[in-house]
Amino acid sequence: MKHVRVNSDRLWESLMEMGKIGATEKGGVCRLALTDLDRVSRDLLTEWCEAEGCSREVDAMGNLFFRRPGKSNSEKAVGFGSHLDTQPTGGKFDGAYGVLAGLEVIRTLNDHGIETELPVELVVWTNEEGSRFPPAMIGSAVFAGAFDLAYGHSRSDLSGKTMGEELERIGYRGDAVPEDHEYAAFFEAHIEQGPILESIEKPIGVVTGVQGVNWYDVVVVGAETHAGPTPMDQRKDALRTSSMILRDLYRIAENSGFDARLTIGEHRIFPGSRNTVPSRVEFSIDMRHPDLQEFDRIDEEIQTAVLSFNDSTDLEVTVERIWRSPPIQFNSECISRVRNAARTCNFAFNEMVSGAGHDSVYISSVAPTSMIFIPCDDGVSHNELENTSPEFAGAGANVLLHSVLASTGNYAWPNLLTFSVSEMRSLTYCALLAKKTSSRWSLPKARCS
Ligand SMILES: [Zn+2]
Repeated sequence: MKHVRVNSDRLWESLMEMGKIGATEKGGVCRLALTDLDRVSRDLLTEWCEAEGCSREVDAMGNLFFRRPGKSNSEKAVGFGSHLDTQPTGGKFDGAYGVLAGLEVIRTLNDHGIETELPVELVVWTNEEGSRFPPAMIGSAVFAGAFDLAYGHSRSDLSGKTMGEELERIGYRGDAVPEDHEYAAFFEAHIEQGPILESIEKPIGVVTGVQGVNWYDVVVVGAETHAGPTPMDQRKDALRTSSMILRDLYRIAENSGFDARLTIGEHRIFPGSRNTVPSRVEFSIDMRHPDLQEFDRIDEEIQTAVLSFNDSTDLEVTVERIWRSPPIQFNSECISRVRNAARTCNFAFNEMVSGAGHDSVYISSVAPTSMIFIPCDDGVSHNELENTSPEFAGAGANVLLHSVLASTGNYAWPNLLTFSVSEMRSLTYCALLAKKTSSRWSLPKARCS
């Protein structure tokens, strides 16, 4: 069982085939949620999954569940999957990779005639990107109960068409309910969408969680005066004060370690005249951190730092936190299955936190969940140039396969920390044997962990 490997070439061919649906001239994909192209991609996946003997259910949000039965079909299934919708100028891999890596897992189980103890399900979540129907990740959010169905159906695009109407139109408004799809474990494979794995030359990211995000609006109010006659010490210059606030904010981020992120992405100056002292400045803060305690500490430090300018200046400064999404910690058992799967396949890996949001954020609230990352070229994603390699795609799918097998009860992974000498010997042997018999998954850039 531990020597079973996916077919990386077949996976790559499926990725290229799926990438033709909505293909753009620059090599990317535009396949917005619930468009005709989304329907075509769902139809193609259905054809592929039915050819593998899977049954299909569709829920009221158009989430798709392809089931491969196991021996104990009344038990919870092991789920895996991602999304098929893309950004308007998206790539072939964001989302589609996790879905087709899941299909490759099912094909591999069939190739080897493996009957799993628990059933397995490949899931496609609707509208992960949120670019046609904001907000993002609506399908998985409704499934997990974070949004109700009426809210999901009422989300509309710029032309006023709602998700409910569009699901009906493309024939993907089904009647499955979340209660019929409870998972013993859930795994999502995804391209990293950042540069870390590539820069450290490791093919696998063991994703331990998703960082938290806080959004703030800051307003600094001073007074408009003439740029010429007003002496510097008699001004209420909103930009000058906001510059000092920004300096303090960047300092907070710099002093908060590698994992802290702080971005001022919007900054507006009023009245915006070169010979008038600015009376008002508005700016945004996007702050992120993966650790809840640090996340909350930095939150407090930011608000205190901003508000302190009410005392140190005679300007009026306000800060409002308009959104708080705390850090998500994935299930430790699922994380260790991914880690052990990477070790057994002899892939070097990096434990990391996702910088971007994913369907797994919502799924982790209703099922033990974790994610598997593979590198993408230059860390580029949400871009038509998004790319990875057949080797990395295959590596991630192999880790997914063995994470799934470890969860279906087909074999129990020994915890590597408690390996006996003989187990370690056989593990090393397995890795060497596999390297010798297949070059497909011994990656040029991979280092043994
Ligand atoms: Zn994605």
